[in-house]
Amino acid sequence: MIPNVHSDRRTASYPRSAIDQAGFHQADTACPIAAHIFESAYWSAHSAVKGADLLHAGEQALYVLSRSPGHHAFADLAGGFCFFNNTGIAAERLLAAGHRPAILDVDLHHGNGTQGIFYERSDVLTVSIHVDPIRFYPFYWGHAQERGEGAGLGYNLNLPLPRGTGDDDYLKTIKTAFAHIRALGTDVLVIALGLDPFEKDPLKGLAVTTPGFARIGEAIAKFGLPTLLVQEGGYLSEELG
Ligand SMILES: [Zn+2]
Repeated sequence: MIPNVHSDRRTASYPRSAIDQAGFHQADTACPIAAHIFESAYWSAHSAVKGADLLHAGEQALYVLSRSPGHHAFADLAGGFCFFNNTGIAAERLLAAGHRPAILDVDLHHGNGTQGIFYERSDVLTVSIHVDPIRFYPFYWGHAQERGEGAGLGYNLNLPLPRGTGDDDYLKTIKTAFAHIRALGTDVLVIALGLDPFEKDPLKGLAVTTPGFARIGEAIAKFGLPTLLVQEGGYLSEELG
């Protein structure tokens, strides 16, 4: 199902027909509902929950191959191939277990769903490094001035980068992110691991090289917190594997 109407600016009028409800809960046309989507998205989220549980049990670093991805999904709004917000759900699980999680989103695209879920909250810090959304999906979110609201003010940090940014400037930016995360007293890290900042990604947003990814990984390891890496985006190219 792909709706022909999307109610991005919602009112309290909840529609009654299936196609309009779909439009109410789907931000764009990149999240069609087909057979088995629910099952797939449900178990994808459960993979992240399992990772959160293992982290809580004492694992230091874990990678979760979640499919479908999650970071464009809001609490009640799918978008950009995402239906359930896997990292957000994992963070909730860690929070319930007594942790103080931060979500660091390194996907090429801004993690707008994650930002939306925690925007008015101070208990889960959200940080996203991404290509400047002024001319890039998700367009309407991800700007530096979006810092959270109410109790959440200061607990959302967006670090947009100019198109074509390479390893060195990316590494500098991740240090800024870590300084912010450290200052707010986080004890577990959830990484929304998009691999689409890759220089040979067909979307051509950023220009992180394979050794660059290794340096990013090293920086994350050096940061020293128990870390759950949850797969987000990354598009077809010969070198991606
Ligand atoms: Zn992406």
